[in-house]
Order: sequence, then structure tokens, then C-alpha cells
Amino acid sequence: MSNPLFKLSYEGALAASNAARGAIQGAIDQFGADCPVGYPETAYRLPSIFALTGNDVKTLGDLLPILDTVGGLFLKEGDTLESAMHNGVVTVYAAEMIEALGYLNGAMPFAGTPYTGFIPDSVLRSAGIALVDGTIPGVAVLVGQARTGAEAAALVRDLQSKGLLILLVDGIIEQLAQENVKVGPEYLTVPLGHFTQIVHAANFAFRAGLAFGNVKPGDLAGHVAYQQKRVPAFVLALGEQDAIRISAAFACTCLGYPVLTDVELGELQIPDLFVTETDYHKMVVKALEMRSIKIKILDIDVPVTIGPAFEGETIRKADTFVEMGGGRSEAFELVQMVDEGAIEDGRITVVGPELDGFQEGDKVPFGLVVKIYGRKMQEDFEGVLERRIHYFVNYGEGLWHVAQRDINWMRISKEAVAKGFRFEHLGRILIAKFKNEFPSIVDRVEVVLYTDPSEVSAQHEKAKAVYAKRDARMRTLTDENVEALYSCTLCQSFAPNHCCVVSPERVGLCGAVSWLDAKASHEITPTGPNQPIPKDGELDAASGRWEAVNDFIKRATNGSVEEVALYSFMQMPMTSCGCFEAILAIVPEANGLMVTTREHTGQTPCGMSFSTLAGTVGGGVQSPGFMGVGRSYLNSKKFIKADGGLARVIWMPKSLKDFLGDDFKARCVEEGLGEGFVDQIADETIGTTVEEILPFLEEKKHPALAMEALL
Ligand code: SF4
Ligand code: ZN
Repeated sequence: MSNPLFKLSYEGALAASNAARGAIQGAIDQFGADCPVGYPETAYRLPSIFALTGNDVKTLGDLLPILDTVGGLFLKEGDTLESAMHNGVVTVYAAEMIEALGYLNGAMPFAGTPYTGFIPDSVLRSAGIALVDGTIPGVAVLVGQARTGAEAAALVRDLQSKGLLILLVDGIIEQLAQENVKVGPEYLTVPLGHFTQIVHAANFAFRAGLAFGNVKPGDLAGHVAYQQKRVPAFVLALGEQDAIRISAAFACTCLGYPVLTDVELGELQIPDLFVTETDYHKMVVKALEMRSIKIKILDIDVPVTIGPAFEGETIRKADTFVEMGGGRSEAFELVQMVDEGAIEDGRITVVGPELDGFQEGDKVPFGLVVKIYGRKMQEDFEGVLERRIHYFVNYGEGLWHVAQRDINWMRISKEAVAKGFRFEHLGRILIAKFKNEFPSIVDRVEVVLYTDPSEVSAQHEKAKAVYAKRDARMRTLTDENVEALYSCTLCQSFAPNHCCVVSPERVGLCGAVSWLDAKASHEITPTGPNQPIPKDGELDAASGRWEAVNDFIKRATNGSVEEVALYSFMQMPMTSCGCFEAILAIVPEANGLMVTTREHTGQTPCGMSFSTLAGTVGGGVQSPGFMGVGRSYLNSKKFIKADGGLARVIWMPKSLKDFLGDDFKARCVEEGLGEGFVDQIADETIGTTVEEILPFLEEKKHPALAMEALL
């Protein structure tokens, strides 16, 4: 059936590619055809074009031939849905080229504006883990402008409260600013920009396929299938759209993202793909249904909004009503398993003054005790649950929390207090969240909040004893003396052939799943992504190889990985999905390895930045000499034991040295490397190339130089 929208898609694609052609020609005239082109902080230069065509565009001169080829293939005036989709893809290519021109010669076109433009790989990788574990249930792309500012605000708050990642394009960004809606990547509400900046939603999505899915560049059908199956996104097109935007919308439908609009399309609607819904609330419900996105609705009776959108919110000093801990007042938090008789489910007690008994600027002494009873609860899970307090509190709008135990630090904003927020509400949040997220190990929850100084001190002493006991227990948890390791296949929703093996001494590469986390999660969902792997059939203790692990891996990776060694990055290393905290990479010239992290954007001695390196490591493939890891694996006794351990580390960013801290120094001493070993490891202040750091390593007599050859 012909549809005038199809024709618009063609007109849009034609206009977009003509505009691109003109802009590229202009840029070539100005900077020359050899001028390098590519987005910053990504391993994929022009990601949509790289994904769909396999063309690794390098210079301005590469662009026009691609535009010609693609145009020749797809740009056709047809009157079918298929032709509309093809034309949409042309629009994506054209928009990606136009946008890339803004970044020539290191320019950052959106610096100092409220817009993000291109989203760097590091954001994609950290969002990855939230998407796989369901913290972010889906992605909403909003284009255009809502009928009124108030409606725009209500729509976005609705999406935020559901935890969706929201990408914004066009006038809605200004509408939200006027309505004081919190916008920014830290709120999972990303203001991409206007018009062709919509392509940054597409190149974000395509990188998921490249980075996590191991879909090959140029495998157009593979990328389309990956998007349809694994990226739960949809588009809300608000207000009248021009031909170019309509064309872009057809590209979205081609990827399986339904487009919902508030414009009456009548019989122009295309069922399941391009539909009208004028009621914004119903629009969200319908979009979620169309993408089969299930939202766990948890209604907590507190006066602030709760959702992952607020996890990254910072509360400045000037906006703070009171703070607790952080060296400013005595504070601690504790989750403790109690007997059935020692708990009253749902009870919240504040021992000492409530929040309204304090003045603005006060430093409140604060003890937070969460008592838990559950038939399947184990003392070992206390720490796992306790670390969740950080997330649960941060989900509250106007609440800020860092660290844990008795080094915790919290702020409550003036805005939250003005809305009526009280300490008691912290209890409500924690009770609801613990019950909701740990249903099978948590039957009853009671919260006691201490604000009376002497009570805080007394309870703090008790908490210290519990921490000490827990630490002693942790030291006995080694790979040798547990019966089973755990798998984690959570990331398979994005990286279908990836499987982590998590052991007491090797955390999952995302850094978020420890052996105890995996064990607890197995209790909660026995058929879920964390399965026990008994350590049957030991093949080699030094490199951490077991028959049972290999059998499991073979099955879990659909046969793509046959064997893994837990303690080696050279032989049969574990695969990497894409959300690793750090990457190990061999530096043959120094007979050792370097480590870089997601936080470190600079160059490294292997000649690649984190993003570029990450592009070669992910996707669930084994790549000897390169491996994604959780940062704390560096402090483990089992750290690449088979390859020589810590003595192999020749370079890491300074920030990682700081993160690893005293535990790392203690480990160096244990390894016989001495406390000063960390200063024998080069960092970016010494150099970021092999040539720069080799003299340093030689001068410091770095042990790796004298070790058995790695290769
Ligand atoms: Fe993904 Fe591995 Fe982390 Fe599990 S442990 S969430 S599979 S990275
Ligand atoms: Zn992952």
C-alpha cells in the first residue's frame, strides 16, 4: 500500500544526502581531502557507517564515495515500506557524516552548551551493565517538541520513574530546561542536541552490536537483527516532523524500534511500526508493550521520586540541608541478619531527633541499621545486601550516598526536605527495595535509624565488631576452599557468547558481581544467570583450569569457547563482553602487561586508548594477551598467577594506583616485590609510549624485564 510518508522518507533522504554532499565538499575545500575524520573517544570512528558498511572511514576524502555507493544502492523513490526504510538508512549515513564534520581537527562542537552531541564509548560501556541487569529496562528516544512544557515534563518524569535511558533531540530539551526537569547523562536523560544530532542515538545503538554482540562491521543484516532482538528501544516523535526526521524515523522502524507520534496519522499509520497516540501517558504504556519492556513498578510512599535516573545525581553543598558521615559526623550503616523473634516486619524507628529537629547545615551523627530475617538468608549475604544501601538511597531524588560501612557519607537536599522528606522515609525506601529485589532471601525487614550522638557511638562499636568478623570470614574465602565457582551469563542479552566465571578471588569483569553476589543471586533465582560450577576434574591448579568449568563454558557460549584458564591472560583467557572496568594488554617490548581503565581516557603504551583497545577485546571472544577484568582482580592472589602475577604489571594510570590503594601495596609485599613496587610501575606521568617508559623501567630495575619471556 502506498503511503505519502514513504515518499517523505525519500525526500528526506535526498535532502539529507545533498546537504551532506555540500558540507563535505565545503570541508574538503577548507581542510583538504586528507583531513582525518572520526568522533572522539570511540573505537569506531563513524560507528553507524562502520557497523553497516564495514567502511572504517579515515579521512574527509573517504566520505563522498561512501555516500555515492549507499545512495546508489538505497536512495530510490519507491512507494513501499521497504523503500522508505532504505531511504531512512541513507539519512542516517548522511547525518552521521554531517555531524562528524563538526569534530574535525579536534573541535568539540558542543563544549559549553547543554547538549552532549556524540556519546563516548565509556558511557555506552557503563550503561551496558545497567541494561543487562535490568536496572535500565529500555531506551526511549524523544524527538521534537511536546504540546506544552508541562506535558513534556510529565512525560519525561514518567519515563525517568520507570528507569528508562532517555535520549532527547530537538525542542523538548528547552521545554524541560524551562520546567526544571533534571537533564544530563548523570540522570540517564541525555540531551543529544537538535536535528541531525539524532544520529547519535543510532551510533550509540550500533556500537552495542559492535562492542557487546561481536557483530562484524559490514554485516548489515546482522546489525539489524541485533538491534531488533537485543536493543529494547522505541521512538516518541512529538509534534509535526519534517521529511528528514520522518526519514530518520523509518530508519528506526527498520531496526525494530516502533515510532509513536502525537500527530493524528489516521489511516497513514503503519501497524506495529508507526502509530499515533495523543495521550502521553498511554503513549509510554503502548511503547513499552510494543517492545515487550516490563517495568517492575514499586510504589514507595515517600515525598520524592525514586528511580535509577537519580543514581548519578550530585548534591552540591549549597543545595544540602544536612549531611551525615564523610568525616563530618560519626556515621555507619549495617545490614544484620536476625532471628525470627528479634524483628518486627516493616517497623521503622528513629532513635533521636527526626530531620525536622535539625537546622540547615547541620552535620548529623547517623547510624543506619537494617535488620533482616529470611528463611533462606545467610550471614554471608549481609555484606551483599549492605552494599545495596548505596544504590537504594541514591535512587531517591535529593538523596546522595557514597561509600559504605562506617566511611559512608550522605547528603539530603533542601529540596527534598521542603517536599517533606524525613529520616523515616529512608527506612521506607530500604524496606521496599530489599523486599522487592531479594524476595526469596528477605522475608522481614526492620530499620532503625540513630541520630542521638551517644546511641550512634554505642551502636557503631557493635557494628565495628560485625565488620571485623565479616572481614575475617572473607579472608577464609579462597578459590581453594569453596566447593563451587559461579557462572554469570547476565551479559548474554548483549553478548550472546560471553560467560564470566566468578570465583572468590576473581570478581566478574564488570566489577559488580563478586562470588558472594553470584551465590546470593543464585539463591534468589535458582534458574537465573548465576549457576554453581563444581570444581570437578582439576586440570591445572596454577592456571585455574577444571574440566567442569570447560564443560560449562562450552555449553554456555554456544560452543564458541572450548576452554578457559581462570588465572591467565595469555593462555585461554576468559572472554570479555564489553562492560569491563579495566583491560589488561600485553606490552611485548617490556615483557609485561599494562592496565587501563574506563575512567582513563588518555593514550597508553600499547598505542591505544581505552576505547580503541576495548573495541578489540569485547564481544565474547578469547583474545590471548588482552582481557577485560574487574579492577579489584589486581588485588587478588590469583591475579594472572600463571603468567607471573603482579610482577608483570609495567604500566597503569595513576587513578588506578589510587583506587587499588594499600591493599595493592600489601599484595606487593606478599609477592616479595616490596612495598615500593607500585613506584616501579610506570604511569601517564612517566609516559604513554613504550619508548617513553622503557628507560624508566630499566632504571627502576622492573622485575618483568628479567622474567621468563611472555611470548
Ligand atoms: Fe556481565 Fe560478567 Fe558482570 Fe555477569 S559478571 S554482569 S556476565 S560482566
Ligand atoms: Zn558485561
